[in-house]
Amino acid sequence: MAYQIPLLIGGNMVPSSTEQWLEVHNPATQKVIARLPCATEAEVAAAIQAAGDAFLTWKETPVPERARLMLRYQALLKEHHDDVARLLSRDTGKTFEDAKGDVWRGIEVVEQAANISALSMGEALENVASGVDCYSLTQPLGVCVGITPFNFPAMIPLWMFPLAIACGNTFVLKPSEQDPLVPMRLAELFMEAGAPDGLLQVVHGGKDVVDQLLIHPQVRAISFVGSVAVGQHIYRTGTDHLKRVQAFAGAKNHMVVLPDANRQQAINNLVGASVGAAGQRCMAISVAVLVGEAASWIPELQAAMAKVRPGIWNDPKAGYGPQISASAKERVLRLIAEGKREGANCLLDGSDAEVSGYPNGNWVGPTLFSGVTTNMTIYREEIFGPVLLVMTVDSLEDAIALVNANPYGNGTSIFTASGAAARKYQHEIQVGQVGINVPIPVPLPFFSFTGWRNSFYGDLHAYGKQAVRFYTETKTVTARWFDDDVVASPNMSIHLK
Ligand code: NAD
Repeated sequence: MAYQIPLLIGGNMVPSSTEQWLEVHNPATQKVIARLPCATEAEVAAAIQAAGDAFLTWKETPVPERARLMLRYQALLKEHHDDVARLLSRDTGKTFEDAKGDVWRGIEVVEQAANISALSMGEALENVASGVDCYSLTQPLGVCVGITPFNFPAMIPLWMFPLAIACGNTFVLKPSEQDPLVPMRLAELFMEAGAPDGLLQVVHGGKDVVDQLLIHPQVRAISFVGSVAVGQHIYRTGTDHLKRVQAFAGAKNHMVVLPDANRQQAINNLVGASVGAAGQRCMAISVAVLVGEAASWIPELQAAMAKVRPGIWNDPKAGYGPQISASAKERVLRLIAEGKREGANCLLDGSDAEVSGYPNGNWVGPTLFSGVTTNMTIYREEIFGPVLLVMTVDSLEDAIALVNANPYGNGTSIFTASGAAARKYQHEIQVGQVGINVPIPVPLPFFSFTGWRNSFYGDLHAYGKQAVRFYTETKTVTARWFDDDVVASPNMSIHLK
Protein backbone atom coordinates (compact mmCIF):
# COMPACT_ATOMS: atom_id res chain seq x y z
CA MET A 1 0.00 0.00 0.00
CA ALA A 2 1.15 3.56 -0.74
CA TYR A 3 2.76 5.58 2.03
CA GLN A 4 0.16 7.08 4.37
CA ILE A 5 1.00 10.66 5.23
CA PRO A 6 0.77 11.43 8.95
CA LEU A 7 -0.36 14.61 10.68
CA LEU A 8 2.04 16.65 12.83
CA ILE A 9 0.43 17.50 16.15
CA GLY A 10 2.19 18.57 19.35
CA GLY A 11 5.61 17.50 18.08
CA ASN A 12 4.52 14.02 17.00
CA MET A 13 3.92 12.59 13.55
CA VAL A 14 0.62 10.83 14.16
CA PRO A 15 -1.42 8.57 11.88
CA SER A 16 -4.88 9.94 11.18
CA SER A 17 -7.92 7.98 12.27
CA THR A 18 -9.98 9.39 9.41
CA GLU A 19 -11.96 7.29 6.97
CA GLN A 20 -11.52 9.83 4.21
CA TRP A 21 -8.34 9.48 2.18
CA LEU A 22 -7.12 11.13 -1.01
CA GLU A 23 -4.47 9.84 -3.39
CA VAL A 24 -1.37 11.85 -4.26
CA HIS A 25 -0.18 11.20 -7.83
CA ASN A 26 3.07 11.67 -9.65
CA PRO A 27 1.84 14.00 -12.42
CA ALA A 28 4.31 12.58 -14.97
CA THR A 29 3.09 8.99 -14.53
CA GLN A 30 -0.19 9.06 -12.52
CA LYS A 31 1.41 6.57 -10.14
CA VAL A 32 0.01 6.89 -6.61
CA ILE A 33 2.90 8.05 -4.44
CA ALA A 34 1.07 8.55 -1.17
CA ARG A 35 -2.30 8.56 0.53
CA LEU A 36 -3.40 11.72 2.26
CA PRO A 37 -5.77 11.78 5.22
CA CYS A 38 -8.54 14.38 5.44
CA ALA A 39 -8.08 15.13 9.13
CA THR A 40 -11.10 14.64 11.38
CA GLU A 41 -12.69 17.49 13.28
CA ALA A 42 -11.15 16.17 16.51
CA GLU A 43 -7.69 16.04 14.92
CA VAL A 44 -7.93 19.62 13.67
CA ALA A 45 -9.13 20.73 17.11
CA ALA A 46 -6.21 18.86 18.71
CA ALA A 47 -3.76 20.60 16.37
CA ILE A 48 -5.11 24.03 17.31
CA GLN A 49 -5.07 23.11 20.99
CA ALA A 50 -1.45 21.94 20.75
CA ALA A 51 -0.51 25.22 19.08
CA GLY A 52 -2.39 27.16 21.76
CA ASP A 53 -0.61 25.28 24.57
CA ALA A 54 2.83 25.73 22.99
CA PHE A 55 2.20 29.44 22.56
CA LEU A 56 2.13 29.98 26.33
CA THR A 57 5.83 29.16 26.63
CA TRP A 58 7.04 30.10 23.14
CA LYS A 59 5.85 33.70 23.46
CA GLU A 60 8.14 34.07 26.52
CA THR A 61 11.15 32.62 24.70
CA PRO A 62 13.83 35.31 24.21
CA VAL A 63 14.01 36.73 20.71
CA PRO A 64 17.64 35.66 20.07
CA GLU A 65 16.67 32.08 20.93
CA ARG A 66 13.86 32.21 18.36
CA ALA A 67 16.31 33.62 15.84
CA ARG A 68 18.81 30.82 16.56
CA LEU A 69 16.15 28.21 15.78
CA MET A 70 15.77 29.85 12.37
CA LEU A 71 19.54 29.83 11.84
CA ARG A 72 19.67 26.10 12.58
CA TYR A 73 16.67 25.53 10.31
CA GLN A 74 18.27 27.51 7.51
CA ALA A 75 21.45 25.43 7.79
CA LEU A 76 19.49 22.15 7.69
CA LEU A 77 17.45 23.26 4.71
CA LYS A 78 20.63 24.15 2.87
CA GLU A 79 22.16 20.80 3.76
CA HIS A 80 19.07 18.98 2.43
CA HIS A 81 18.42 21.40 -0.41
CA ASP A 82 18.87 18.93 -3.26
CA ASP A 83 16.96 16.10 -1.54
CA VAL A 84 14.00 18.38 -0.89
CA ALA A 85 14.17 19.58 -4.51
CA ARG A 86 14.18 15.97 -5.77
CA LEU A 87 11.13 15.17 -3.66
CA LEU A 88 9.51 18.35 -4.97
CA SER A 89 10.19 17.24 -8.56
CA ARG A 90 8.57 13.87 -7.87
CA ASP A 91 5.55 15.44 -6.21
CA THR A 92 4.94 18.25 -8.74
CA GLY A 93 6.78 17.13 -11.89
CA LYS A 94 8.83 20.35 -11.89
CA THR A 95 12.23 20.16 -13.56
CA PHE A 96 15.06 19.78 -11.06
CA GLU A 97 16.36 23.29 -11.80
CA ASP A 98 12.95 24.78 -11.18
CA ALA A 99 12.42 22.68 -8.03
CA LYS A 100 15.74 23.93 -6.65
CA GLY A 101 14.57 27.51 -7.25
CA ASP A 102 11.36 26.78 -5.30
CA VAL A 103 13.36 25.49 -2.31
CA TRP A 104 15.93 28.28 -2.49
CA ARG A 105 13.37 31.10 -2.53
CA GLY A 106 11.92 29.56 0.64
CA ILE A 107 15.31 29.34 2.33
CA GLU A 108 15.77 33.05 1.70
CA VAL A 109 12.67 33.75 3.79
CA VAL A 110 14.03 31.60 6.63
CA GLU A 111 17.20 33.71 6.49
CA GLN A 112 15.03 36.77 6.87
CA ALA A 113 13.21 35.17 9.82
CA ALA A 114 16.59 34.72 11.53
CA ASN A 115 16.82 38.51 11.50
CA ILE A 116 13.72 38.78 13.66
CA SER A 117 15.40 40.83 16.41
CA ALA A 118 16.00 43.78 14.10
CA LEU A 119 12.72 43.28 12.25
CA SER A 120 10.50 43.33 15.30
CA MET A 121 12.04 46.26 17.13
CA GLY A 122 9.61 48.91 18.22
CA GLU A 123 10.11 52.66 18.34
CA ALA A 124 10.94 54.90 21.26
CA LEU A 125 10.84 58.65 21.84
CA GLU A 126 11.93 60.45 24.92
CA ASN A 127 10.16 63.55 26.27
CA VAL A 128 6.90 63.33 24.36
CA ALA A 129 5.71 65.53 27.24
CA SER A 130 7.61 66.83 30.18
CA GLY A 131 9.24 63.77 31.84
CA VAL A 132 7.16 61.42 29.70
CA ASP A 133 8.62 58.80 27.36
CA CYS A 134 6.73 56.78 24.76
CA TYR A 135 7.72 53.47 23.22
CA SER A 136 6.12 50.72 21.19
CA LEU A 137 6.55 46.96 21.58
CA THR A 138 5.66 44.16 19.20
CA GLN A 139 4.00 41.11 20.72
CA PRO A 140 2.91 37.86 19.07
CA LEU A 141 -0.74 37.13 18.34
CA GLY A 142 -1.10 33.44 19.29
CA VAL A 143 -2.17 30.64 16.96
CA CYS A 144 -1.71 31.45 13.26
CA VAL A 145 -2.85 29.36 10.31
CA GLY A 146 -1.44 28.92 6.79
CA ILE A 147 -3.32 27.45 3.82
CA THR A 148 -1.07 26.88 0.84
CA PRO A 149 -1.45 26.09 -2.89
CA PHE A 150 0.13 23.33 -4.95
CA ASN A 151 2.38 25.40 -7.15
CA PHE A 152 5.21 26.27 -4.73
CA PRO A 153 5.09 23.53 -2.07
CA ALA A 154 8.40 24.65 -0.53
CA MET A 155 8.50 28.41 -1.01
CA ILE A 156 4.97 29.30 0.04
CA PRO A 157 4.82 27.35 3.34
CA LEU A 158 8.22 28.94 4.03
CA TRP A 159 6.73 32.41 3.37
CA MET A 160 4.50 31.74 6.35
CA PHE A 161 5.45 29.58 9.32
CA PRO A 162 9.11 30.63 9.87
CA LEU A 163 8.25 34.33 10.15
CA ALA A 164 5.09 33.73 12.18
CA ILE A 165 7.00 31.50 14.61
CA ALA A 166 10.02 33.81 14.75
CA CYS A 167 7.57 36.53 15.84
CA GLY A 168 6.62 34.34 18.83
CA ASN A 169 3.45 32.73 17.46
CA THR A 170 2.64 29.06 16.95
CA PHE A 171 1.33 27.68 13.68
CA VAL A 172 -1.04 25.23 11.99
CA LEU A 173 -0.22 24.58 8.33
CA LYS A 174 -2.74 23.09 5.90
CA PRO A 175 -0.77 22.39 2.73
CA SER A 176 -2.23 21.66 -0.69
CA GLU A 177 -3.66 18.16 -0.87
CA GLN A 178 -2.07 17.80 -4.34
CA ASP A 179 1.60 17.81 -3.26
CA PRO A 180 1.89 17.51 0.53
CA LEU A 181 5.17 15.55 0.71
CA VAL A 182 7.45 18.59 0.56
CA PRO A 183 5.62 20.55 3.28
CA MET A 184 5.86 17.42 5.46
CA ARG A 185 9.60 17.20 4.83
CA LEU A 186 9.94 20.90 5.70
CA ALA A 187 8.11 20.21 8.95
CA GLU A 188 10.37 17.22 9.76
CA LEU A 189 13.46 19.35 9.20
CA PHE A 190 12.00 22.07 11.42
CA MET A 191 11.60 19.55 14.23
CA GLU A 192 15.13 18.29 13.58
CA ALA A 193 16.38 21.87 13.90
CA GLY A 194 15.17 21.74 17.50
CA ALA A 195 11.74 23.37 17.27
CA PRO A 196 9.93 22.77 20.57
CA ASP A 197 6.84 20.57 20.36
CA GLY A 198 3.69 22.34 19.25
CA LEU A 199 5.31 25.25 17.44
CA LEU A 200 4.27 23.84 14.09
CA GLN A 201 1.40 21.47 13.35
CA VAL A 202 0.48 20.14 9.92
CA VAL A 203 -3.05 18.99 9.16
CA HIS A 204 -4.31 17.75 5.81
CA GLY A 205 -7.56 17.87 3.92
CA GLY A 206 -9.77 20.09 1.81
CA LYS A 207 -12.58 22.57 2.35
CA ASP A 208 -13.91 21.03 5.59
CA VAL A 209 -10.56 21.24 7.33
CA VAL A 210 -9.95 24.79 6.06
CA ASP A 211 -13.38 25.94 7.16
CA GLN A 212 -12.84 24.59 10.65
CA LEU A 213 -9.55 26.50 10.88
CA LEU A 214 -11.14 29.72 9.61
CA ILE A 215 -13.75 29.94 12.33
CA HIS A 216 -11.97 28.43 15.33
CA PRO A 217 -12.00 30.90 18.25
CA GLN A 218 -8.35 30.24 19.14
CA VAL A 219 -7.05 31.12 15.66
CA ARG A 220 -5.89 34.73 15.45
CA ALA A 221 -4.47 35.12 11.94
CA ILE A 222 -4.84 33.34 8.60
CA SER A 223 -2.46 33.44 5.65
CA PHE A 224 -3.82 32.00 2.43
CA VAL A 225 -2.37 31.59 -1.05
CA GLY A 226 -4.44 30.10 -3.86
CA SER A 227 -7.11 30.80 -6.43
CA VAL A 228 -9.31 33.87 -6.47
CA ALA A 229 -12.60 32.13 -5.66
CA VAL A 230 -11.14 30.36 -2.64
CA GLY A 231 -9.26 33.52 -1.61
CA GLN A 232 -12.50 35.49 -1.48
CA HIS A 233 -14.13 32.75 0.60
CA ILE A 234 -11.17 32.65 3.01
CA TYR A 235 -11.06 36.45 3.36
CA ARG A 236 -14.79 36.82 3.87
CA THR A 237 -15.14 33.92 6.33
CA GLY A 238 -11.99 34.75 8.27
CA THR A 239 -12.75 38.45 8.67
CA ASP A 240 -16.40 37.65 9.45
CA HIS A 241 -15.02 35.68 12.38
CA LEU A 242 -12.88 38.69 13.33
CA LYS A 243 -9.54 37.15 12.31
CA ARG A 244 -6.64 38.94 10.72
CA VAL A 245 -6.47 37.63 7.13
CA GLN A 246 -4.09 37.97 4.21
CA ALA A 247 -5.27 36.16 1.07
CA PHE A 248 -3.05 36.02 -2.01
CA ALA A 249 -5.11 35.04 -5.03
CA GLY A 250 -5.05 34.49 -8.79
CA ALA A 251 -3.42 36.56 -11.49
CA LYS A 252 -3.21 37.58 -15.13
CA ASN A 253 0.18 39.15 -15.62
CA HIS A 254 1.06 41.31 -18.63
CA MET A 255 4.46 41.99 -20.10
CA VAL A 256 4.57 45.18 -22.15
CA VAL A 257 7.22 45.24 -24.87
CA LEU A 258 8.21 48.55 -26.47
CA PRO A 259 9.89 48.52 -29.88
CA ASP A 260 13.10 50.03 -28.42
CA ALA A 261 13.60 46.97 -26.17
CA ASN A 262 16.44 44.53 -26.81
CA ARG A 263 14.54 42.22 -29.15
CA GLN A 264 16.23 38.93 -28.31
CA GLN A 265 16.16 39.59 -24.58
CA ALA A 266 12.48 40.47 -24.69
CA ILE A 267 11.58 37.34 -26.69
CA ASN A 268 13.65 34.98 -24.53
CA ASN A 269 12.21 36.45 -21.35
CA LEU A 270 8.67 36.18 -22.68
CA VAL A 271 9.14 32.50 -23.45
CA GLY A 272 10.69 31.62 -20.07
CA ALA A 273 8.19 33.65 -18.07
CA SER A 274 5.12 32.27 -19.84
CA VAL A 275 5.77 28.54 -20.25
CA GLY A 276 8.36 28.03 -17.46
CA ALA A 277 6.97 25.83 -14.64
CA ALA A 278 4.24 24.81 -17.14
CA GLY A 279 2.71 28.27 -16.64
CA GLN A 280 1.80 27.28 -13.07
CA ARG A 281 3.26 30.37 -11.41
CA CYS A 282 1.13 33.14 -9.99
CA MET A 283 3.70 35.56 -11.45
CA ALA A 284 3.90 33.85 -14.86
CA ILE A 285 3.46 36.16 -17.82
CA SER A 286 0.25 35.16 -19.52
CA VAL A 287 -0.24 38.19 -21.79
CA ALA A 288 2.37 39.84 -24.04
CA VAL A 289 1.38 43.38 -24.98
CA LEU A 290 3.42 44.32 -28.04
CA VAL A 291 3.51 48.06 -28.64
CA GLY A 292 3.74 49.57 -32.16
CA GLU A 293 6.52 48.04 -34.27
CA ALA A 294 7.11 45.30 -31.69
CA ALA A 295 4.00 43.62 -33.18
CA SER A 296 6.26 42.45 -36.03
CA TRP A 297 8.20 40.24 -33.57
CA ILE A 298 5.41 37.65 -33.33
CA PRO A 299 6.97 35.16 -35.82
CA GLU A 300 10.24 35.20 -33.86
CA LEU A 301 8.37 34.71 -30.61
CA GLN A 302 6.48 31.79 -32.14
CA ALA A 303 9.71 30.20 -33.37
CA ALA A 304 11.36 30.58 -29.95
CA MET A 305 8.36 29.09 -28.15
CA ALA A 306 8.16 26.18 -30.58
CA LYS A 307 11.64 25.08 -29.49
CA VAL A 308 10.53 24.49 -25.90
CA ARG A 309 9.05 21.17 -24.90
CA PRO A 310 7.82 19.64 -21.67
CA GLY A 311 9.51 16.62 -20.15
CA ILE A 312 10.33 14.76 -17.00
CA TRP A 313 12.10 16.32 -14.04
CA ASN A 314 15.62 15.06 -14.77
CA ASP A 315 15.61 15.50 -18.55
CA PRO A 316 18.09 18.35 -19.07
CA LYS A 317 16.38 19.24 -22.35
CA ALA A 318 12.92 19.62 -20.81
CA GLY A 319 11.79 23.23 -20.53
CA TYR A 320 9.17 22.42 -17.92
CA GLY A 321 7.14 19.57 -16.44
CA PRO A 322 3.51 18.43 -16.52
CA GLN A 323 0.36 20.14 -15.22
CA ILE A 324 -0.21 19.16 -11.62
CA SER A 325 -3.23 16.92 -12.28
CA ALA A 326 -5.31 15.40 -15.02
CA SER A 327 -8.11 17.83 -14.19
CA ALA A 328 -5.72 20.82 -14.36
CA LYS A 329 -4.64 19.64 -17.83
CA GLU A 330 -8.25 19.18 -18.89
CA ARG A 331 -9.03 22.73 -17.78
CA VAL A 332 -6.13 24.17 -19.80
CA LEU A 333 -7.20 22.18 -22.89
CA ARG A 334 -10.78 23.39 -22.47
CA LEU A 335 -9.57 26.99 -22.39
CA ILE A 336 -7.35 26.48 -25.46
CA ALA A 337 -10.36 25.08 -27.33
CA GLU A 338 -12.44 28.01 -26.12
CA GLY A 339 -9.82 30.47 -27.39
CA LYS A 340 -9.99 28.91 -30.86
CA ARG A 341 -13.80 28.86 -30.78
CA GLU A 342 -13.94 32.53 -29.84
CA GLY A 343 -11.74 33.49 -32.80
CA ALA A 344 -8.20 34.01 -31.46
CA ASN A 345 -5.38 32.85 -33.80
CA CYS A 346 -3.79 29.75 -32.37
CA LEU A 347 -0.21 30.01 -33.64
CA LEU A 348 1.04 27.11 -31.52
CA ASP A 349 -1.23 24.48 -30.02
CA GLY A 350 0.19 22.28 -27.28
CA SER A 351 -3.00 20.29 -26.69
CA ASP A 352 -1.60 17.06 -28.13
CA ALA A 353 1.84 17.18 -26.53
CA GLU A 354 3.44 13.84 -25.80
CA VAL A 355 6.55 12.86 -23.89
CA SER A 356 8.16 9.65 -24.98
CA GLY A 357 7.96 6.93 -22.32
CA TYR A 358 5.42 8.90 -20.25
CA PRO A 359 2.10 8.43 -22.04
CA ASN A 360 0.04 9.18 -18.93
CA GLY A 361 1.68 12.46 -17.91
CA ASN A 362 -0.35 15.66 -17.78
CA TRP A 363 1.58 17.24 -20.65
CA VAL A 364 0.62 20.43 -22.41
CA GLY A 365 2.96 21.90 -25.02
CA PRO A 366 3.72 25.62 -25.43
CA THR A 367 0.64 27.35 -26.78
CA LEU A 368 0.55 30.79 -28.38
CA PHE A 369 -2.46 32.88 -29.36
CA SER A 370 -2.48 36.18 -31.22
CA GLY A 371 -5.44 38.40 -32.08
CA VAL A 372 -6.72 38.13 -28.52
CA THR A 373 -9.34 40.61 -27.31
CA THR A 374 -10.35 41.50 -23.77
CA ASN A 375 -13.80 39.89 -24.00
CA MET A 376 -12.41 36.42 -24.78
CA THR A 377 -12.57 33.75 -22.09
CA ILE A 378 -8.82 33.07 -22.47
CA TYR A 379 -8.17 36.70 -21.52
CA ARG A 380 -10.71 36.91 -18.71
CA GLU A 381 -9.81 33.65 -16.94
CA GLU A 382 -6.54 32.66 -15.35
CA ILE A 383 -5.37 29.70 -17.49
CA PHE A 384 -2.47 28.53 -15.26
CA GLY A 385 -0.88 26.57 -18.12
CA PRO A 386 1.90 27.11 -20.69
CA VAL A 387 -0.24 29.44 -22.77
CA LEU A 388 0.77 32.92 -23.89
CA LEU A 389 -1.70 35.44 -25.32
CA VAL A 390 -0.39 38.18 -27.59
CA MET A 391 -2.15 41.52 -27.86
CA THR A 392 -1.00 44.52 -29.88
CA VAL A 393 -1.52 48.19 -29.06
CA ASP A 394 -0.38 51.47 -30.63
CA SER A 395 1.17 53.24 -27.67
CA LEU A 396 2.47 52.93 -24.14
CA GLU A 397 -0.63 54.81 -22.95
CA ASP A 398 -2.86 52.17 -24.57
CA ALA A 399 -0.80 49.40 -22.94
CA ILE A 400 -1.16 51.02 -19.52
CA ALA A 401 -4.93 51.42 -20.00
CA LEU A 402 -5.23 47.74 -21.02
CA VAL A 403 -3.32 46.44 -18.00
CA ASN A 404 -5.13 48.76 -15.58
CA ALA A 405 -8.52 47.60 -16.87
CA ASN A 406 -7.70 43.97 -16.01
CA PRO A 407 -9.14 43.01 -12.60
CA TYR A 408 -5.92 41.37 -11.38
CA GLY A 409 -2.84 43.20 -10.08
CA ASN A 410 -0.23 40.64 -9.08
CA GLY A 411 2.74 41.33 -11.36
CA THR A 412 3.66 43.03 -14.59
CA SER A 413 6.78 43.93 -16.49
CA ILE A 414 7.94 46.33 -19.15
CA PHE A 415 10.79 45.73 -21.58
CA THR A 416 12.25 48.93 -22.95
CA ALA A 417 15.48 50.86 -23.36
CA SER A 418 13.77 54.09 -22.32
CA GLY A 419 14.09 55.18 -18.70
CA ALA A 420 11.29 57.69 -19.20
CA ALA A 421 8.89 55.04 -20.52
CA ALA A 422 9.80 52.66 -17.69
CA ARG A 423 9.32 55.44 -15.11
CA LYS A 424 5.91 56.31 -16.57
CA TYR A 425 4.88 52.63 -16.51
CA GLN A 426 6.12 52.11 -12.95
CA HIS A 427 4.21 55.18 -11.78
CA GLU A 428 0.90 54.74 -13.58
CA ILE A 429 0.38 50.98 -13.53
CA GLN A 430 -2.14 49.65 -10.99
CA VAL A 431 -0.24 46.45 -10.24
CA GLY A 432 1.60 45.66 -7.03
CA GLN A 433 4.85 44.20 -8.43
CA VAL A 434 6.55 45.73 -11.44
CA GLY A 435 9.58 44.45 -13.36
CA ILE A 436 11.64 46.72 -15.56
CA ASN A 437 13.41 44.42 -18.01
CA VAL A 438 12.77 41.73 -15.38
CA PRO A 439 9.93 39.40 -16.42
CA ILE A 440 8.96 37.85 -13.06
CA PRO A 441 9.53 40.49 -10.39
CA VAL A 442 9.08 38.38 -7.25
CA PRO A 443 10.64 40.55 -4.52
CA LEU A 444 13.36 39.18 -2.26
CA PRO A 445 12.28 38.68 1.34
CA PHE A 446 13.64 41.92 2.77
CA PHE A 447 10.84 43.51 0.72
CA SER A 448 7.29 42.15 0.73
CA PHE A 449 5.27 40.24 -1.86
CA THR A 450 2.76 42.92 -2.76
CA GLY A 451 -0.03 41.83 -5.13
CA TRP A 452 -2.91 44.29 -5.57
CA ARG A 453 -6.58 44.32 -6.49
CA ASN A 454 -8.10 40.84 -7.15
CA SER A 455 -4.71 39.22 -6.62
CA PHE A 456 -4.77 40.09 -2.92
CA TYR A 457 -7.34 40.55 -0.18
CA GLY A 458 -6.08 42.11 3.02
CA ASP A 459 -3.80 44.91 4.15
CA LEU A 460 -0.41 43.54 5.12
CA HIS A 461 1.45 41.39 2.62
CA ALA A 462 3.72 38.33 2.76
CA TYR A 463 7.26 38.34 4.19
CA GLY A 464 9.47 41.40 4.76
CA LYS A 465 8.49 44.02 7.34
CA GLN A 466 4.82 43.76 6.40
CA ALA A 467 4.68 40.10 7.48
CA VAL A 468 6.18 40.97 10.86
CA ARG A 469 3.43 43.53 11.34
CA PHE A 470 0.85 40.98 10.16
CA TYR A 471 2.00 38.39 12.71
CA THR A 472 2.30 40.80 15.67
CA GLU A 473 0.33 43.30 17.71
CA THR A 474 1.82 46.68 18.50
CA LYS A 475 1.62 47.82 22.08
CA THR A 476 2.40 51.46 22.82
CA VAL A 477 3.55 52.48 26.28
CA THR A 478 3.48 56.03 27.60
CA ALA A 479 5.50 56.27 30.82
CA ARG A 480 6.19 58.88 33.43
CA TRP A 481 8.23 58.22 36.56
CA PHE A 482 7.37 60.68 39.34
CA ASP A 483 9.89 62.59 41.26
CA ASP A 484 8.31 62.10 44.69
CA ASP A 485 9.38 65.55 45.83
CA VAL A 486 7.23 67.24 43.20
CA VAL A 487 3.51 66.66 43.60
CA ALA A 488 1.49 67.69 40.57
CA SER A 489 -2.07 68.94 40.88
CA PRO A 490 -4.81 66.86 39.13
CA ASN A 491 -4.68 67.21 35.34
CA MET A 492 -8.26 67.67 34.17
CA SER A 493 -7.39 67.50 30.45
CA ILE A 494 -6.09 64.70 28.24
CA HIS A 495 -3.35 67.03 27.10
CA LEU A 496 -0.05 65.53 28.33
CA LYS A 497 2.04 68.34 29.78
P1 NAD B 1 -6.65 26.48 -4.69
O1 NAD B 1 -7.35 27.75 -4.37
O2 NAD B 1 -7.41 25.42 -5.40
O3 NAD B 1 -6.11 25.79 -3.33
C1 NAD B 1 -5.36 26.52 -2.39
C2 NAD B 1 -5.62 25.95 -1.01
O4 NAD B 1 -7.01 26.15 -0.66
C3 NAD B 1 -5.35 24.45 -0.90
O5 NAD B 1 -4.72 24.19 0.33
C4 NAD B 1 -6.74 23.84 -0.95
O6 NAD B 1 -6.85 22.64 -0.23
C5 NAD B 1 -7.62 24.90 -0.32
N1 NAD B 1 -8.99 24.92 -0.87
C6 NAD B 1 -9.35 24.56 -2.15
N2 NAD B 1 -10.67 24.74 -2.30
C7 NAD B 1 -11.15 25.22 -1.13
C8 NAD B 1 -12.45 25.61 -0.68
N3 NAD B 1 -13.51 25.55 -1.47
N4 NAD B 1 -12.57 26.08 0.58
C9 NAD B 1 -11.49 26.16 1.40
N5 NAD B 1 -10.24 25.80 1.02
C10 NAD B 1 -10.07 25.34 -0.22
O7 NAD B 1 -5.31 26.88 -5.47
P2 NAD B 1 -4.27 25.93 -6.19
O8 NAD B 1 -4.89 25.36 -7.42
O9 NAD B 1 -3.65 25.02 -5.21
O10 NAD B 1 -3.15 27.00 -6.62
C11 NAD B 1 -3.19 27.74 -7.82
C12 NAD B 1 -3.78 29.11 -7.59
O11 NAD B 1 -3.02 29.79 -6.60
C13 NAD B 1 -3.70 30.00 -8.83
O12 NAD B 1 -4.91 30.71 -8.92
C14 NAD B 1 -2.55 30.94 -8.54
O13 NAD B 1 -2.61 32.18 -9.19
C15 NAD B 1 -2.70 31.10 -7.07
N6 NAD B 1 -1.45 31.55 -6.46
C16 NAD B 1 -1.37 32.84 -6.08
C17 NAD B 1 -0.20 33.33 -5.53
C18 NAD B 1 -0.09 34.76 -5.10
O14 NAD B 1 0.86 35.08 -4.41
N7 NAD B 1 -0.99 35.64 -5.47
C19 NAD B 1 0.89 32.46 -5.36
C20 NAD B 1 0.76 31.14 -5.76
C21 NAD B 1 -0.42 30.68 -6.31
